[in-house]
Amino acid sequence: MPGLDEKLGEIYAEVVGRNPGEAEFHQAVHEVLDCLGPVIAKHPEYADSAVIRRLCEPERQIIFRVPWVDDAGVVRINRGFRVEFNSALGPYKGGLRFHPSVYQGIVKFLGFEQIFKNALTGLPIGGGKGGSDFDPKGRSDGEIMRFCQAFMTELYRHIGEYTDVPAGDIGVGGREIGYLFGQYKRITNRYESGVLTGKGLAWGGSQVRTEATGYGTVFFVEEILKARGDSFEGKQVVVSGSGNVAIYAIEKVQQLGGTVIACSDSGGYVVDEKGIDLDLLKDLKQVRRARIQEYPGERGGVARYVTGRSVWEIPCGIALPCATQNELNGADATSLAGNGCTIVAEGANMPCTPEAVRVFGEAGVTFAPGKAANAGGVATSALEMQQNASRDTWTFDHTEQRLADIMHGIHDRCLATADEYGAPGNYVTGANIAGFSQVADAMLALGVI
Ligand code: NAP
Repeated sequence: MPGLDEKLGEIYAEVVGRNPGEAEFHQAVHEVLDCLGPVIAKHPEYADSAVIRRLCEPERQIIFRVPWVDDAGVVRINRGFRVEFNSALGPYKGGLRFHPSVYQGIVKFLGFEQIFKNALTGLPIGGGKGGSDFDPKGRSDGEIMRFCQAFMTELYRHIGEYTDVPAGDIGVGGREIGYLFGQYKRITNRYESGVLTGKGLAWGGSQVRTEATGYGTVFFVEEILKARGDSFEGKQVVVSGSGNVAIYAIEKVQQLGGTVIACSDSGGYVVDEKGIDLDLLKDLKQVRRARIQEYPGERGGVARYVTGRSVWEIPCGIALPCATQNELNGADATSLAGNGCTIVAEGANMPCTPEAVRVFGEAGVTFAPGKAANAGGVATSALEMQQNASRDTWTFDHTEQRLADIMHGIHDRCLATADEYGAPGNYVTGANIAGFSQVADAMLALGVI
């Protein structure tokens, strides 16, 4: 395999052979292995004890039937997944995604990324991920509730505060976590707050969890800017998506003095040169669950909607892809770099294709990978678990400060590790090696299990 040394190339070929048709999983594994050459040269013990091979094989994979009844009385069948990837550092931790594109390969790529991301936070959490090919778009509240109850009716036997702690992801927000937690509580007869994160504030949730992934991504970029003696003040920013991560990334950019001039959904994007009206966006997407297409009409003529094109054609200084995997390709990267973009940070998981990342490298655009830049969400989930375990609740300011400190720590750790391995300023190398080393050391200490 090009770019990988012989031993790592063999492992990669094995992963591809054992997991046929799972392109996103292959891509995520390749990106990590690509950084590990100098690590196994320095630490042959990792290769000797097959740590990398073991890391690429999930500890447990669960696939199950989810039968439910829609509003018309029709019985529907979806498929549920939970991949418990690695528990060397703590209970499996990672979100649930409800989207029609979900299959084993998506869940495995997300679970694999999650191992290293969670390690980077420095908190005691292992990696996992789950979800379903259920499409929540256009479904009533009652249908969402019945689906969540059916999903949890199988999932409950596999999870627990010391075993596996799911959270939200695409298509799973506060409403869905509520229905999932309610069903878990009903089946088990236990008020086990620490079994799910992303809970409502009135019933065991944490301040800042809703905002954490978007805020954390922006805190990460703030650190990059600080290192250059710069700030968000006066910067033009483009954000993709208009879901949980995108909305709170926009909010924090605005608080720090930047202007977000465009955002999107899967139908198209809006450009608003005066800056996105966040109250309107929240009302449209969070309250009315409407499409972004409706934004210009309600904004009074200052914004426009574009469909069938890429949001990355809009010139900006900073780009924050916050929608989905492989949404920003090589051509988009060329256009961003050509238009003067100097920083790209992934709020979503793996939104940039390998070709895009290569283009950024060649063009001198600073690139922050998701496993570092969007780790604020899971870090705050771990803070939620900490509050649940001690039956405590923290203030918004205290929790936000903890999040900012964690993002600062991840940023510095990535840079220090990149320096140590001769790749100064390379956040991909830094994140992959720092995350890997921590998990690998724990796996060595725990023996062959
Ligand atoms: P979400 O609230 O469901 O929002 C997803 C957004 O992305 C929606 O606006 C959706 O538009 C848009 N989108 C989906 N596919 C798209 C496409 N092909 N092109 C353009 N837009 C598209 O989900 P989220 O929680 O914000 O998650 C977004 C990303 O962040 C995912 O990669 C997720 O894995 C990652 N992430 C989330 C968290 C978290 O705490 N939530 C933590 C870490 C990483 P439609 O409504 O049209 O589908």
